[in-house]
Amino acid sequence: MKIIIIPGDGIGPETMAVTTQVLENASAKFNLGLKLEQEIAGHSSLEKYGSTVTSILLEKVKAANGLMLGPMATYDFKDESKGEINPSKFFRKELDLFANIRPSRTYPKVPTCVKPFDLAVVRENTEGFYADRNIESGGSEMLITPDVVISLRRITRQCCERIAKAAFELAMTRKKHVTIVHKANVLKIGDGMFIDICKAIGQNYPQVQIDDFIVDAMMAHVVRAPERFDTIVTTNMFGDILSDLTAELSGSLGLGGSLNAGEQYAMGQAAHGSAPDIAGKDIANPFSLVLSAAMLLNWHGQKTTQVQFTDASKAIEKCVGLLIDSGEVTRDIGGNLGTKAVGDSFVRHFSKG
Ligand code: NAD
Repeated sequence: MKIIIIPGDGIGPETMAVTTQVLENASAKFNLGLKLEQEIAGHSSLEKYGSTVTSILLEKVKAANGLMLGPMATYDFKDESKGEINPSKFFRKELDLFANIRPSRTYPKVPTCVKPFDLAVVRENTEGFYADRNIESGGSEMLITPDVVISLRRITRQCCERIAKAAFELAMTRKKHVTIVHKANVLKIGDGMFIDICKAIGQNYPQVQIDDFIVDAMMAHVVRAPERFDTIVTTNMFGDILSDLTAELSGSLGLGGSLNAGEQYAMGQAAHGSAPDIAGKDIANPFSLVLSAAMLLNWHGQKTTQVQFTDASKAIEKCVGLLIDSGEVTRDIGGNLGTKAVGDSFVRHFSKG
């Protein structure tokens, strides 16, 4: 399996260094034959090539079996005509990575303010309110007058159907419960269609229990009792916001693994951003990116029916749990190790296990 590794901005190089170490160890232990090829995107690519991403990079990613994308300083990239393209949107759109799967679970040794839970947010990734990807060319935010802006939201039957199917398929491997999150009381047509399609797709999965919540109330429900949820399907922006909340509820944003998957390609990418406030300090939690890498291996294992990849994925998740149990973690989840030291601890435990 060939994986393109892009460290990214801010804390990206630190957390990707640990993730690369984890992948190399998993490859040796499970005989995966991983080929990890380092590339650049974001600020370093802008400096070198005049663009945050390039068409040559896209071709390399398409020729590989997976991509690990580090966090990007998206907010810095304002003007596509100056090469400031959001790399996340670039790969999600160009590779049609329509399903963003973001699991969150509590760990007994990580302090939280909620009961133990284990859920997954399934977020539509290619349309919705995301102005940089919901139309064929250009952006869908319009400056009507200097004081008036219109931002368009796109909801299509095809995208609703495929994200609903992804959610029900995932629910079948979990606790067989899908919660549809929407704003159909206000976005009556778009989210009305989203609910109808999710429920229609759900008819093909009679074992799966279905309910739905309005997104604002959902914020209260998920804080009050996250343990009542299993698989949550929602549109792009609601899923982005909700999954940061569920990751933080599990103990830290630094615990949120995330996979962007389509029919042909997949990209592991931490749920969090480039965290400039802690970049270069060796304190970032690498687990979000490490767990995203485990998800990428699992995706490849399922796609190619090569069980050693799914085994490696489970072993990485188990080892993360072990480190958390033994307190060998970064300070955001109660430890006192630096990012690099967590990587070294991982390797020590992984080689023993
Ligand atoms: P952020 O997610 O980078 O950080 C939010 C908070 O969580 C910060 O306090 C940060 O220190 C903390 N945090 C994040 N990751 C952590 C980790 N691994 N370990 C410990 N603490 C962690 O959000 P932001 O600061 O609003 O955004 C910074 C930049 O990242 C912006 O340019 C934004 O657009 C971009 N962003 C990119 C992605 C992505 O690449 N997928 C996602 C979200 C934000």
